[in-house]
Amino acid sequence: MSKFWSPRVRELTPYTPGEQPRERLIKLNTNENPYPPAPGVGAVLRNYSTDHLRLYPDPESGALRQALAREFGVEVEQVFVGNGSDEVLALAFQAFFCQQRPLEMPETTYSFYPVYCRLYGIERRALPLTANHEVDLAAFATDSGGTIFANPNAPTGHGHGRKAIAELLKRVTDSVVLVDEAYVDFGGESAIPLVVSHPNLVVTGTFSKSRSLAGLRLGYAVGSRELIEGLTRVKDSFNSYPVDSLASALAIAALEDNEHFEACREKVITTRERTRTRMEKLGFHVLPSQANFVLVTHPEHDAAQLFAGLRERGILVRHFNTEALRDFLRITIGTDDEMESLIETLETLCG
Ligand code: PMP
Repeated sequence: MSKFWSPRVRELTPYTPGEQPRERLIKLNTNENPYPPAPGVGAVLRNYSTDHLRLYPDPESGALRQALAREFGVEVEQVFVGNGSDEVLALAFQAFFCQQRPLEMPETTYSFYPVYCRLYGIERRALPLTANHEVDLAAFATDSGGTIFANPNAPTGHGHGRKAIAELLKRVTDSVVLVDEAYVDFGGESAIPLVVSHPNLVVTGTFSKSRSLAGLRLGYAVGSRELIEGLTRVKDSFNSYPVDSLASALAIAALEDNEHFEACREKVITTRERTRTRMEKLGFHVLPSQANFVLVTHPEHDAAQLFAGLRERGILVRHFNTEALRDFLRITIGTDDEMESLIETLETLCG
């Protein structure tokens, strides 16, 4: 604690990301993709001229935004890019949610949202999930200072369909609704087609999960021109270059390979469902998931002890030490071999 820190920083408990271990473990704790990025990404990297690095990047990130606009069937002015969706979210909190009224979010959701609220002095109203662990869309008020949730939600994995989001948008018209689609490609339904008719909707996404590029730090937002202009205003105020030129070139290469993208996400979805069946046989309750992870709980085994037992045997999963999640483990879907090792180890621990 330093006297030089401003009061908000003194009170802040920063977000703690999942451990990035140095030793070789089976790493199922931070929802990375177990498969490599598209081969074209490696090709661009190998042939990249260092002369590009001498110059500042395109301040508009034109080529990357064009590629994303084509991907999502929107205008380039409806696309924003940043260094990971965490940065895009931080900018969105500043651009849209610093209001006189509280920002509404599910009680159990991505734990970065409350951190941003504290950092930017935003009042937060947390709404309980439904009895079956779904985001309760009907509970969001029409007169809040904004709405944010992940869809599929993290760390629960349930995703609402586009129709349900459209219903929400019929009611909430006076403030921004941010749908965080970090995990949407693993079986969810994107709300992006709704941005055309809803000027208050902004959807964020990332290259970290379904594109296997978490190390690159590339995220984006798609929304009305008005909202994208809001994000750009904040961004330009402290760093006028959205993303670096190498990251842009690699992300474009990733977007160009749809076959690789489809194949990887299919594999993750198949492995997820197989893992669910195997874990249920071991007595786990596995929440339905449309993401690249599952949230599980066992009626007879303590989650913290299972976490420690797995860790000792070289398998890293995620245990959140919060009231709502204490009994659960969140397990990222890895390769079939990795999941086989997980199941075998759980058989020993639970047997
Ligand atoms: N949103 C959600 C719901 C997440 O789980 C994550 C990853 N931890 C992010 C956003 C941020 O992803 P990135 O910054 O890697 O794009």
